[in-house]
Amino acid sequence: MASTASPIVISPEQLEEERKTILNQYMALLRAGKPFMRKGDRKLIRAAFEMAVEAHKEMRRKSGEPYIYHPIAVAQIVAEEIGLGTTSIICALLHDTVEDTDITLQDVEREFGKTVAKIIDGLTKLSGLHNKSSSQQAENFRKMLLTLTDDVRVILVKLADRLHNMRTLDSMAKEKQLKIASETQYLYAPLAHRLGLYAIKSELEDLAMKYLEPDLYKMIARKLRETKAKRDKFIRDFITPLKKELESQGFQFEIKGRPKSIFSIGNKIKKQNISFEEVYDLFAIRVILDSEGEQEKQDCWRVYSIVTDYYPPNPNRLRDWISTPKANGYESLHTTVMSPSGKWVEVQIRTRRMDELAEKGLAAHWKYKTNTADSGLDEWLEKIREALENPEPNALEFIDDFKLQLYAKEIFIFTPKGDLIKLPGGSTALDFAFEIHSDLGAKCIGAKVNHKIVPLSYELQNGDQVEIITSNIQKPNPDWLKFVITAKAKSKIKQLLKENRRKEAEHGKEIFERKMRNARLEINGDVINKLLKHFRLQYAHDLYYMIAIEKIDWVTIKQVLSEDGIPEKRENRINESNFESVVKSRSGKNDEWLVIDDKIDRIDYSLANCCTPIPGDDIFGFITVSEGIKIHRVNCPNAVDLLSKYGYRVVKAKWTGQQEVSFLAGIRIEGIDDIGIISGISQVISNDLKVNMRSISVISNDGMFEGKLMVYVHDTRHLESLMKKLLTVKGVLKVSRLDT
Ligand code: MN
Repeated sequence: MASTASPIVISPEQLEEERKTILNQYMALLRAGKPFMRKGDRKLIRAAFEMAVEAHKEMRRKSGEPYIYHPIAVAQIVAEEIGLGTTSIICALLHDTVEDTDITLQDVEREFGKTVAKIIDGLTKLSGLHNKSSSQQAENFRKMLLTLTDDVRVILVKLADRLHNMRTLDSMAKEKQLKIASETQYLYAPLAHRLGLYAIKSELEDLAMKYLEPDLYKMIARKLRETKAKRDKFIRDFITPLKKELESQGFQFEIKGRPKSIFSIGNKIKKQNISFEEVYDLFAIRVILDSEGEQEKQDCWRVYSIVTDYYPPNPNRLRDWISTPKANGYESLHTTVMSPSGKWVEVQIRTRRMDELAEKGLAAHWKYKTNTADSGLDEWLEKIREALENPEPNALEFIDDFKLQLYAKEIFIFTPKGDLIKLPGGSTALDFAFEIHSDLGAKCIGAKVNHKIVPLSYELQNGDQVEIITSNIQKPNPDWLKFVITAKAKSKIKQLLKENRRKEAEHGKEIFERKMRNARLEINGDVINKLLKHFRLQYAHDLYYMIAIEKIDWVTIKQVLSEDGIPEKRENRINESNFESVVKSRSGKNDEWLVIDDKIDRIDYSLANCCTPIPGDDIFGFITVSEGIKIHRVNCPNAVDLLSKYGYRVVKAKWTGQQEVSFLAGIRIEGIDDIGIISGISQVISNDLKVNMRSISVISNDGMFEGKLMVYVHDTRHLESLMKKLLTVKGVLKVSRLDT
């Protein structure tokens, strides 16, 4: 054998063994792909297989195995677990050849045609992700999403590739494991979720957790094993009467108990701070009906009726995704019922078609496309296209916005005419306006929700009917970015702000030129440079902009130009020192309340939405590319992520003494749902403490009450006294600061 390529010496016996394994894997692949194969396909797959074997023949994986095991396994996942056909199988077999071997894209195109070559090209462009800096990596993710609107099979093969890499992650070095696992949790699992590939999404999440939180993972896996017999008995007892009844009514069906994923159990344990034993919904019961066409919906509801005849349902937990499917195409009826032993159990009711759609997502969608109404998936792809049309300079932020949407729960909102609009949960009135039309968003000054006037920042609730109020003099405001959540609204607002800034700068330039003319001063490069240097600005248009918005005044300019030395500090001039720059309130007030440790030019900053810091909190600054510095609390839920990944972009920040300004802070209130509770709370807030409230939202569930308040306070002391006072309201059991 050619020993130059690999230092490992392999015995002839082992080589023979490996050759057999490769053939067996290949036969298994053909069996998996058989249902989709047409005449002549077998020959094509054979050719791709042989090309891949030849190309990778000297290569081995980190584990020491022949490299070819990997592309065959990826092809197997593509065929068996995603349900894709010949083209995708060929692409999976060849997915690493152009990147890692002598084979060129031209070779691939010659052998397998344009479509295959295009997909391989997409896959090749996406690889090499691991060695790039984080911003390049984000750019790559963005490219990946772009290809999603091109040929979605690129993403599907990529997901299969990632899944196999995760399954075989054990042989990698520790840091690589952590990096690949975080990436998987960060992007690939949400992507699989959005494409409706639930089984793959769950497995990716579980595998990521295995490496990111090994202790928790092992504990849950062990306890699931230990409690299996008990759980199985419970499930048997629960489904036996249902089975009998469904049979007697002539249904063809399958009914099974399905354990929740380790990841989702782990999430509950962490989020709700409870023990494994306290996670009540460790499994769900699923009824899968053999029902077709017009009968589907009706049959599901008949089964619902049977289930709830036996077990009383929780009326707050009925989810009907049959009448309005999720945007990724998911259809199912979910209800939570009370078992005789006093335990809530989730029951999912769906047809065979819906089940296949849920498990295999997109591929099944194509398969059934002819007989379903337009699924939300096309809509979603359309939305990605729209979002990508306004290229963001900062790909990382774009991905973050986008990722939020990948996982977001959906709400359904009605237009005044009664049209249904889907939005991610947490969307505000302004998101809705931008969703309808960007002009409507740009001119929006408020909204009527169910005929009541609310501010732009009002968080919409499922089923709200919304009418947008506009004004021609309205202008987009940087604060808007704090309360919109859809990628569409965010990118549009950023674009409008940029345009606005450009216009203002032009205006500022005119003012500057006129004043210089009147003062008989010449404008030249030296003059501009002197001013830029003095005000610590980078470009002339920044200077013009500051002039236009009156942050830099003419008196100061004249002083700078007439003196060689640095003029006296003035109130409305940006403070200058070697190590610190005082940041001014964005609202235009001149209160100086924050100091950023600084060797950087940018002083534009804002308080992060995720943790809404207020004076008194320990804070740090984080340099973003397009929004200046973001101030976060040290115990912000995102802090670990930011500090670990982008330590070099972190700057020190601290509050300066007494403030007259108010800051937005969030409070969570939990308690017993009582008629007087809301008036009690607002009494304390507006009358006793004279605090301004921006919003209050309340959820009641089974006699329990959970409220979210956004209030304006001066600092942590002020907030704490307010929280103490709220605790005295009748019915209130717990008051805590809102982190997210
Ligand atoms: Mn690969």
